Amino acid sequence: MRKKIFKRLALAATIGLAGTSIANVALANHAWGTYHWARTTPQFTLKLGNNLTTTAWSARLTQTASDWNAGNTPVLTAIVAGSTSARTCKMVAGTTQVCNASYGNNGWLGLASINLSGDHITQGTAKMNDTYFNTATYNNVNEREHVMCQEVAHTFGLGHQSEDGSSQNSCMDYFSNTGSNAGSTVSTKPNAHDFSVLNTIYAHLDSTTTVAATPGPVVAAAKGGVDVDISNDPASWGALMKQSANGRSSIYQRFNQDGSVTLTHVFWTNEAAANCPSCDHRRNFR
Ligand SMILES: [Zn+2]
Ligand SMILES: [Zn+2]
Repeated sequence: MRKKIFKRLALAATIGLAGTSIANVALANHAWGTYHWARTTPQFTLKLGNNLTTTAWSARLTQTASDWNAGNTPVLTAIVAGSTSARTCKMVAGTTQVCNASYGNNGWLGLASINLSGDHITQGTAKMNDTYFNTATYNNVNEREHVMCQEVAHTFGLGHQSEDGSSQNSCMDYFSNTGSNAGSTVSTKPNAHDFSVLNTIYAHLDSTTTVAATPGPVVAAAKGGVDVDISNDPASWGALMKQSANGRSSIYQRFNQDGSVTLTHVFWTNEAAANCPSCDHRRNFR
């Protein structure tokens, strides 16, 4: 099954050279598109800024950083001190900032945003919403690990393996580690197919880099007055571009004044999605 999907992906990419939107649809199932960090070496290290406020979350970040480093991967991760506040979770050039807070009854469990300059990721954030993770339904190690693993990897440029709720035993699926599955570790880690897709995304080299140097401190870059961040207001995500049939996964796109694009990937709660799978769920939380 996985092989078949991958073949289709390769085929679609080839067809895409002739110029068609089919390629984009197929690619969107796996990567967000062709988005990637610019880098000049086959393997690079992405700094994950730890702005997490609880050990329940920092333990999950430690685990997923280790899991993503354990495969045959072009993207190594290194956890560094956070450079923003958990609540605002502002982007910092060349890094992914990882945050948790009680962001409110807004319907989402996890949120990943990347800022793009052309096809290149320049900075990203991954946010976990304690408003839901502190409730009985979602408050377990496996659901936390699943969402942490997925949001962090979206900032690598990686998309989902499936969105129908089935388990591919990858954190890039929408299996729900809740209810009778709360004790299941299935879908809490990347699988071989995730690493295969990452190697495809990063098969080429760039002549420049958008990745912050390691080691060394991360200094927030001057933004020239243009705010490319999303805020805690869902209206700041921009337009809804794509949503899974079951309504649990959405991608929003915002065009910024500096010519960059901010993409936001939303992992909705079961309840928010079930309410109206095809709706823009933001309308229910205004
Ligand atoms: Zn490139
Ligand atoms: Zn996702």
